[in-house]
Amino acid sequence: MDPGHAMFSETLKAAARPAKYFVKPEPDDLGVKIRCRLCPRECVIREGEMGYCGVRGVLDGELVTFIWGRPSSIAVDPVEKKPLYHFHPGSLVLSLGTIGCNFRCKHCQNWTISMADADSAGFRLLESEPIEPSALVEICRRHGATGVSFTYNEPTIWMEYVLDTFHYFREHTDYYTCLVTNAFISPEPLEDVLQVTDAYRADLKTIRPENLVKMAEYNHPEKVLETIARVAKSGVHLEVVTNIVTNWNDSEEEIREMAEWMADNVPLDTPWHFTRYFPHNEYREDATPVATLRFAERIARERGFKFVYLGNLPGADGDTTCPKCGQTLISRAGYSAHILVDEPRCPACGEPLRSLVLPERKN
Ligand code: SF4
Repeated sequence: MDPGHAMFSETLKAAARPAKYFVKPEPDDLGVKIRCRLCPRECVIREGEMGYCGVRGVLDGELVTFIWGRPSSIAVDPVEKKPLYHFHPGSLVLSLGTIGCNFRCKHCQNWTISMADADSAGFRLLESEPIEPSALVEICRRHGATGVSFTYNEPTIWMEYVLDTFHYFREHTDYYTCLVTNAFISPEPLEDVLQVTDAYRADLKTIRPENLVKMAEYNHPEKVLETIARVAKSGVHLEVVTNIVTNWNDSEEEIREMAEWMADNVPLDTPWHFTRYFPHNEYREDATPVATLRFAERIARERGFKFVYLGNLPGADGDTTCPKCGQTLISRAGYSAHILVDEPRCPACGEPLRSLVLPERKN
């Protein structure tokens, strides 16, 4: 027996399900090793070991996921909390997260789940029995949710469950599906999930390799950029979030570089949210100055972005207004939204609002 094999407990082995997205090279002198291709990190994993995200491993010569159907967190949230401001505004969305992540952001506000892994106490944070997608539909019905989202930690790392859930929802309900993600995913699973997701809420954390290394131990931000650019072309609803973090991605130069890249690669009516960082976990710099957020907002607007929002900032105006005449289209207070339009068009001046996806009205 491979010495590493004993690392997996009987509980973990019982939870294992076949994983997708890998290449399986020839065994070498040390035994089998499998390259995971779910995200660009492309971990090479040996028998009894976990990948970087801490939830996928090699068991009996096969790549497996240990977390199919096992959330650590499940709640019904306003969709504005994701944040998604132009997608079914005012709706409730069933929200699920598990443990693990393919990044290691030192300021992660959900670090207690994102930095846990399945091979330790982390597994005890999860549902003891897997939840079938059909049961998620029932939870939506009971709580008035009209969609399902994978959020809280990085959804990519349990893509097998995300895909099974989204396919089930597409086939059996008219509820929407959405991802809240760091966009660090490989092209093949991205194409698969784009077939069944209605909204993709992507982080643009940094555009600089030296900054990504500090938070993600990975130095190719272009992998994230490629994902965002691909989603922008796919027809799937896209909103982008940049959490401006003190003394990390908050230089004027980097904010300008991000705005340049965004303007060249995504439509200018894509909602772009700048959110305020607060100290979490091991990152203890002061909260983002309001002036820095206002600067980012100004630069994005100067580059032509029509819908720029500030988040985690009490008192910030979260209303959606017509970029042409200024008419208020959706008014917001906290996470509640009041929709003032019947169709994606300004009622005052007729400006089309291509990035606004409204819930269907049921008479
Ligand atoms: S999904 Fe996990 S195991 Fe697979 S390459 Fe990414 S970090 Fe590694």
